Amino acid sequence: MLEHIKHIQAEIIDQFLQEDNNRPWIIGFSGGKDSTMLLQLVWTALKKIDPIFRGKRRIYVMCNDTLVENPKIVDFIYRTLRNIEKAAVIDGINLIVETTTPKLEDTFWVNVLGRGYPAPNNIFRWCTERLKINPTTKRILEKIDENGEVILFLGTRSDESANRAKSIKRHQFGTNRLRKHSLPKAFVYTPIQDFLTEEVWQYLLAVPSPWNGHNRELITLYRNASGGDCPLVIDTTTPSCGNSRFGCWVCTVVSKDKSMEALIDNGEEWMQPLSDLRDTLAESRDNLEWREDFRRNGQEAPGPYKPKYRALILEKLLTAQKEAQLTEPDIDLITNQELVAIQIMWYRDSIFNYQVSEIYNKVYNANAMKADKIDVQKKKEMEILSSSCKTNPEHVQLISDLLSVQKTKILLRNKVGLSGDLEKQMERFLTNPKKKKETVDAN
Ligand code: SF4
Repeated sequence: MLEHIKHIQAEIIDQFLQEDNNRPWIIGFSGGKDSTMLLQLVWTALKKIDPIFRGKRRIYVMCNDTLVENPKIVDFIYRTLRNIEKAAVIDGINLIVETTTPKLEDTFWVNVLGRGYPAPNNIFRWCTERLKINPTTKRILEKIDENGEVILFLGTRSDESANRAKSIKRHQFGTNRLRKHSLPKAFVYTPIQDFLTEEVWQYLLAVPSPWNGHNRELITLYRNASGGDCPLVIDTTTPSCGNSRFGCWVCTVVSKDKSMEALIDNGEEWMQPLSDLRDTLAESRDNLEWREDFRRNGQEAPGPYKPKYRALILEKLLTAQKEAQLTEPDIDLITNQELVAIQIMWYRDSIFNYQVSEIYNKVYNANAMKADKIDVQKKKEMEILSSSCKTNPEHVQLISDLLSVQKTKILLRNKVGLSGDLEKQMERFLTNPKKKKETVDAN
């Protein structure tokens, strides 16, 4: 293994010193074992380069936060990223840490609670693209725009799955260490592709982290999340998202979140409400009582969650957050921006009998959001609208819907498709003005 590592480090140094300094390196970092080994290998190789040349090439360490990462893991990752930033300055490495997150309208909770999307499963797995692929791809494309080309360093390994092994083979050209990426002007380098899982752990145990991190903490996290088994023999990669170190805590694509259950068994009891909520979500998608009878496109098939159950899930989520905060005060399971976006989407779906602020206040026994400007403004608008439409009361709904569509688009900073959405709304009204509004397709 030592020879293999020396060979890879020589390759990394050779690649670094090539005269294409305008091609930045983007190192995909998840905080898991593989990307940690990858970054350590790059770092220790760069330390062998004369400090005069070491800062020549820009290196990005890119980490995606789905906003529904396991809170135990996310805390570890953000601490690690801070250490990486500090140590890079000390070691003279031209390194920038960048985190990506899903767009507000794409987050897990805005989709489940706002739009009423059913919790994902293997048939309707809407999450991976929105939470992981899109945010990272967007940032990589920005780097390509700025620099012409980029080299992506990925911690993928052939022994992880037969498919990946095939894919690596397919893309490899000649003896060149770089492969073409599906994105134009992006090349991929996978230095640790031939390492076995046990070799990764051996390396992490033997080589201290160059950024003053604690590989033992990483090993303990894996051990605790794998039911106490030693990570040297257990590969904890999740079937849900391939090479993730752990899936999202809300993941219902796996039948059981074994890593969260193992963490609870290993002393993280405050995660129990999260685990219960995940189980509720998993059951809810198959409970037809919870789902509308029609999809948004009008097809007769189980559709979005009914308003009552969107409100119920939100209450359960905030309750779980409140309970978790008793032990871990810094934990937020949902952001304030998401709460606002959910409220807007409820208006857009003509849900007026449930208010995010009321649910929040009920759970937290607080008035913090009672004077929510949106609620006040909405009520005023409805009063004015109703009085102006006295002679044609059926127009209240139509105008309200059109305003909601427009406001949602403005708030989410995405006017693409606005005129189409408005036209659809008009069309629906004209074909059946009395029918309760079917909302425009959120997809
Ligand atoms: S871990 Fe699960 S919830 Fe998260 S993106 Fe992957 S499949 Fe979706």
